Amino acid sequence: MKPPRHLADLTVEQRGEVAVELGEKSFRAKQIATHYFEHLSDEPQTWTDLPTSSRDLLVESLLPTLITPVRSVTCDGGRTRKDLWRLFDGVLVESVIMRYPDRATVCISSQAGCGMGCPFCATGQAGLTRNLSAGEITEQVVASARALARGEIAGGPMRLSNVVFMGMGEPLANYGPVIQTVRNITTPMPNGLGISARSVTVSTVGLVNGIDRLTKEGIPVTLAVSLHTPDDELRDTLVPINNRFNVSEVLRAADAYEARTGRRYSIEYALIRDINDQAWRADLLGRLLKNRNTHVNLIPLNPTPGSKWTASRQEDQDAFVHLLEVHGVSVTVRDTRGREIDGACGQLAASEKNI
Ligand code: SAH
Ligand code: SF4
Repeated sequence: MKPPRHLADLTVEQRGEVAVELGEKSFRAKQIATHYFEHLSDEPQTWTDLPTSSRDLLVESLLPTLITPVRSVTCDGGRTRKDLWRLFDGVLVESVIMRYPDRATVCISSQAGCGMGCPFCATGQAGLTRNLSAGEITEQVVASARALARGEIAGGPMRLSNVVFMGMGEPLANYGPVIQTVRNITTPMPNGLGISARSVTVSTVGLVNGIDRLTKEGIPVTLAVSLHTPDDELRDTLVPINNRFNVSEVLRAADAYEARTGRRYSIEYALIRDINDQAWRADLLGRLLKNRNTHVNLIPLNPTPGSKWTASRQEDQDAFVHLLEVHGVSVTVRDTRGREIDGACGQLAASEKNI
């Protein structure tokens, strides 16, 4: 069974066509979009620019409830909030809002679970349940923008400024709905949220075919590549898809993306004690990246329950940073927002500020 059709699954033209199929004027779809994306309203009874009968019909057909809140947990003095959502078929997914002085970011899920099987990742342990629809992904963004606008996140009302696909799932394994969501986020109001593409980060485990497709799309989102080690031998186990797309193929695809969009890409690297944090690996990574337009985000490992792996020692982390800097590679260690509430898929570390 598929999730019910939603405005956010459709192109602007298709939205108008649906209105016409329902016996309404096509401009009614734009009115609905205005309430949804621009006003962030979830109270159709207040949409008095629409006749009641048209409104009820359009809302029923274009704005079905796709995500229902189950639980929210906050930390960082109310500036970080994780929301757990139930989908139409009972499946659960998470999103996390992180507020900073100068911006507000939501980390969203693109799949329920993930099929990529990275052994250090909580989402990977459970396997893939299913892909989310564009409506289900977009709803996480819109609900977060609404919570921020309503001042539900400590610090007063604020605009959502950034979106990162770093929650559950591998975005490029659910390509169509993810791209449709990117369009909903970046299309100017009232048909989208009007957030700039560069403020959207798509994080991938390194699906080269997906990166190539994204390159052809020509939408200048920020690409984040989860590399985790510069050598194929270890990467084959840390990131099993490396057996299909190895380090040099992934970097070549990311370079092509950079060449096409002009956007520096980021390299995600979860530092795991005595596994991938040795000085020689830092040196190898530095040599690999020194002539590339990248930024390295080091993420202290957030251990998953029962895992024998843990975060690196402080001195090893410091040495790793230093060695990359010696090669002239831009690098930062991510802040670990929301760690005590076990961020999205237990690894939320998403601070895209350094890209
Ligand atoms: N599937 C995509 C996006 C979701 S994961 C990807 O893998 O890129 C978002 C980021 O969190 C990835 O860089 C991922 O490697 C990292 N991550 C996963 N589990 C983690 C953990 N236990 N500790 C730290 N980072 C983790
Ligand atoms: Fe999937 Fe990303 Fe987790 Fe790997 S790290 S299992 S690709 S969500």
